[in-house]
Amino acid sequence: MCEATRASVLLLGILPLVQLSWSHPSWGLTLDGHRLIAMDALATLPPPMREALTPHLSMLLGGVVEPDFNRVVSHKIQIISLGGTPQPAKSGAPDEFKRLATSAQEMLRLGRALDEMLFVLGQATHFAQDLNQPLHATWGETRAEHNEIEAQMLYRDCQKDHRYRGFILIKNYTCFAFEIAQNSSQHARALFFDREIKRVTEIAWDQAVNDTASLLQSIFWHALGPERAWQLHGISAPVSETGHEVALLIGSLRNA
Ligand SMILES: [Zn+2]
Repeated sequence: MCEATRASVLLLGILPLVQLSWSHPSWGLTLDGHRLIAMDALATLPPPMREALTPHLSMLLGGVVEPDFNRVVSHKIQIISLGGTPQPAKSGAPDEFKRLATSAQEMLRLGRALDEMLFVLGQATHFAQDLNQPLHATWGETRAEHNEIEAQMLYRDCQKDHRYRGFILIKNYTCFAFEIAQNSSQHARALFFDREIKRVTEIAWDQAVNDTASLLQSIFWHALGPERAWQLHGISAPVSETGHEVALLIGSLRNA
């Protein structure tokens, strides 16, 4: 069990929990937002990897939006409260994200068709992208409030300014999901109460592109090993690693 999961299990035992059902199929980034983030991430990849993926773009983009059509779990990890409602039950998002990322990695390792593998990889990136939208790290907002803000998060306006910070190797997919939500939750109150939509959208878009690029490369890196990842796809050594931000997670849950 990763550190973040252990911490969350511990904290979930302390926090009062009330079971809430989650059935809001319209919640999430817009489908266009998901596609555009994926395209921005593709543009940052090493050229050999980008060239290998480009012929299968429609499968990747199909996977990127699929989780919004066939929603099996919440796409949120609720860390910050925005209203008076009790904290919802533990989200299935981290487990589903890990399942998809691990499946994609295994398909690549076993040499399955790139088409099939990239669809699953696309599904995994959906979760990394959603969790970067700060209202996916919250609970207590109404559906109308969620949709009203999300509709104003026009990512296209913000594309120019994003910075690619290099390949960050994801050590543990579950912990990575918690880490994304932890980071984005820090902007939830500014987004929700102060309606700092443009500023927060720029941060969310930038981080979602970086996380998507790191996820794509991490899966290839883990499946093929460093040498083949470099030889076949030009993936160079990671600039850093991520997936175990336990101290930040605990701090944020305590403040929630
Ligand atoms: Zn979603």
